[in-house]
Amino acid sequence: MFDSINEKAAAAEEAPGATRIDGAASAMALRARVASQVPSFVQSTGREPALAVVLVGADPASEVYVRNKGKATREAGMRSIEHRLPAASSQAEVLGLVRMLNADPRIDGILVQLPLPPGIDESAVIDAIDPDKDVDGFHMANVGRLSLGAPGFVPCTPLGCLMLLRQTLGSLAGLEAVVVGRSNIVGKPMAQLLLQEHCTVTIAHSRTQDLAAVTRRADILIAAVGRPEMIQGDWIKPGAVVIDVGINRVPSGETGQTRLVGDVAFDEARKIAAAITPVPGGVGPMTIACLLRNTLVAAHRREGLAAPPGL
Ligand code: NAP
Repeated sequence: MFDSINEKAAAAEEAPGATRIDGAASAMALRARVASQVPSFVQSTGREPALAVVLVGADPASEVYVRNKGKATREAGMRSIEHRLPAASSQAEVLGLVRMLNADPRIDGILVQLPLPPGIDESAVIDAIDPDKDVDGFHMANVGRLSLGAPGFVPCTPLGCLMLLRQTLGSLAGLEAVVVGRSNIVGKPMAQLLLQEHCTVTIAHSRTQDLAAVTRRADILIAAVGRPEMIQGDWIKPGAVVIDVGINRVPSGETGQTRLVGDVAFDEARKIAAAITPVPGGVGPMTIACLLRNTLVAAHRREGLAAPPGL
């Protein structure tokens, strides 16, 4: 951890490359902390915390995400329930399932896997979820709570980014943070969290003029764009901490294979930044770990128990 941004800059000048922020290791540690809290919840309540995941249709990427979430939930000692509806389901059917899960007292968290098939209004489905079970933090009530600084649920990806930043930097107060991307699931909640940490926050997007000049101001740079390696080395302030949220699949070699890259040109950026998350192995694993964390917190709140420590 660096005591000041100047120390970070000095470290960047001396070091051959940026510190690699090991999101996979941090995620494993968070998952272990969650799992360690489950037995005392079971002892107090006589039941396991439970996460229900709803998958509508058979999008292959969504299938993988749902499978991974279920596996991680079970590995943490929690109950995982999967509800699969056909792609042709009506909005009324999806809403009916969400309402059934809202009413089930043994369900603590509800996650509707996005995107939903065409014809189903995503925001209507998300807003049908009981905000106290909205472990994705996408419900309007939780968006409002985040902007007010009130307790609620924070979307998992920006929450994971914040945890990595705190581990790397300690206090974030006073630092200049630039978030590239203004989506409801990453960019906007990330900016709110950084504001709560007393950063000076800029949100950049596709209409931002001279984006490189904006990102060069950042002590903390969050890239959440979805454009492979868009952010180049010379867009980065020496000594910055870079969190790359992007997950982009690009062709690799001539054999039709692909590989994953982030929104930041990693090899260039690591020569300039003080610390940077790799893709894969950075933010991605933290997202699932934070989902488990939110589910355990939801279970405690719903049972009127004190928040589990260390999460
Ligand atoms: P999104 O909804 O498509 O939003 C992308 C944002 O980037 C938009 O605000 C857009 O600006 C901005 N943008 C697009 N082109 C730009 C450009 N040339 N210059 C500056 N800004 C530009 O994407 P998202 O859902 O936030 O996801 C972003 C990336 O993170 C994707 O690669 C996604 O796969 C990844 N992701 C990863 C995780 C994880 O667990 N690691 C979780 C979620 C997302 P406008 O608003 O002006 O259009």
